[in-house]
Amino acid sequence: MPFVWGERQMQSKGRAGGFTLSELLVVVGIIAVLTAIIFPVFANAREAARVATCANNLYQISVAAQLYHQDHHGPPMSRLPVSLGSYIGSPSVFVCPNDRSRTDSYSAFFLGRYHSAKAGEFLVGCPRHQRGNKTAIICGKGNGDVGAAGTILHDGVEVHAGDEVVGGVLTFADGSRVDISEGLGVVVITSASTDEGLHSVIYVPANQPGWLDVNVVPGSKFEVATPASVAAVRGTRFTVSVGYKDGRLYTWVSVHEGEVVVEARLTQKRTILKRYEYITVTTDLLAIGRGDWDVGPGPWLDEDD
Ligand SMILES: [Zn+2]
Repeated sequence: MPFVWGERQMQSKGRAGGFTLSELLVVVGIIAVLTAIIFPVFANAREAARVATCANNLYQISVAAQLYHQDHHGPPMSRLPVSLGSYIGSPSVFVCPNDRSRTDSYSAFFLGRYHSAKAGEFLVGCPRHQRGNKTAIICGKGNGDVGAAGTILHDGVEVHAGDEVVGGVLTFADGSRVDISEGLGVVVITSASTDEGLHSVIYVPANQPGWLDVNVVPGSKFEVATPASVAAVRGTRFTVSVGYKDGRLYTWVSVHEGEVVVEARLTQKRTILKRYEYITVTTDLLAIGRGDWDVGPGPWLDEDD
């Protein structure tokens, strides 16, 4: 109603000199300073809580993976919520608090170790919580293994776990080096100091054909995972190629120096390649995660070897 509105305006004008402009500016300034001080404190506290939640998730997953291993004699072979759902009641355990997609946060970063099936060894981590010195890696039989993250450079620029790089050269804190063919994407999963020296893992989604030349310094542990296989080494040189043939995805590993353990990710088969040896692992492109495997030159070893 116009009359009431006008009256209020007059009352307001009548309260002359409540605050001067400079007083208002001082108050606004103080609020701004307090906000600048308090908000990061809140943000840090929230982030610390998220890290704790994520680490707890990883711990529960690692315990469940051990139980799964006891029951199935191998690490989980499908998405974690599917394979471990019967061991973990709450679906929220499979979601990192920093994962905005709110879906399955960890499966892409879970690597089972088929070659050490007796030990049920595996690695699971969260790249969302591996910035700076915060690493949340869980290796082996559920032991929390938190080590300092090693600096990773891509063409001289620092990258972090979870980052995807395309082409160029990755160098690691120990001097290990990976040359990547032009256009090929590689995801850095982890590079952290452990009891066994620097342990680095990279993943090749194989969205397009390409190759990696991997040169690992002695004493360090290095793994290259593709949708088809995991190649694990300690101080050696090898090449991993990915591509498609007849609609199937293949991973090709050849060794220039030392030995490379190659595992078909979704079977319990592995082989050890020596210098100048190579192997091809293929799978049906449409059935990554559960397909049949065609295995090239072997021989594949039994699980118990
Ligand atoms: Zn996380």
